[in-house]
Amino acid sequence: MAEKKALTRLRKMQLEFAASIRESYERKAASCLTCTTPGACCLDAHFVNVHISRLEATAIVTTLAEMPEPMRERVSARIDETIAKYNLDDTTEIHDQKYACPLFEKGTGCLVHTTGKPVACTVHACYEDPADVPPDELQFEQERRIDRLNELTYRRSEPWLPLPLAIRRAKI
Ligand code: SF4
Ligand code: SF4
Repeated sequence: MAEKKALTRLRKMQLEFAASIRESYERKAASCLTCTTPGACCLDAHFVNVHISRLEATAIVTTLAEMPEPMRERVSARIDETIAKYNLDDTTEIHDQKYACPLFEKGTGCLVHTTGKPVACTVHACYEDPADVPPDELQFEQERRIDRLNELTYRRSEPWLPLPLAIRRAKI
């Protein structure tokens, strides 16, 4: 599949998935709009281990490319600093690699909130009752669907990488 077509399909999948999580689960979670520690979830280097595929990284790179230059340069520097600071690489087990996310912009929030939020971030919210948390299988199934789209696009299932590293590798 041509990458452009795959990116369009990915966006549709992301929007549908986000809508279903919002509809079925998020209303039971604390509101991010009134959060007293906004970004705590994205900047906690003991917690964040978001990993993404090549196609998702390409979509994020496209979003970054459309930003005003000063912001793009700031985010790009943060990505490099994050990779170096947390020793992110493609040899360590991805779930063990944790970092403060460079896509969190103070005063703005997640820079890809509406244009390509990773699956793990879409399912995450602060729930008081653990019974209200979306089941892990929803995330895994969505990641499998995205993986298949990667295979159709790049002819092989790409390794999923820590987000900063995946963005750097996808640089176009
Ligand atoms: S997910 Fe939780 S910590 Fe993060 S902004 Fe929302 S309410 Fe705050
Ligand atoms: S991609 Fe966005 S939501 Fe996910 S950790 Fe980074 S800033 Fe937070």
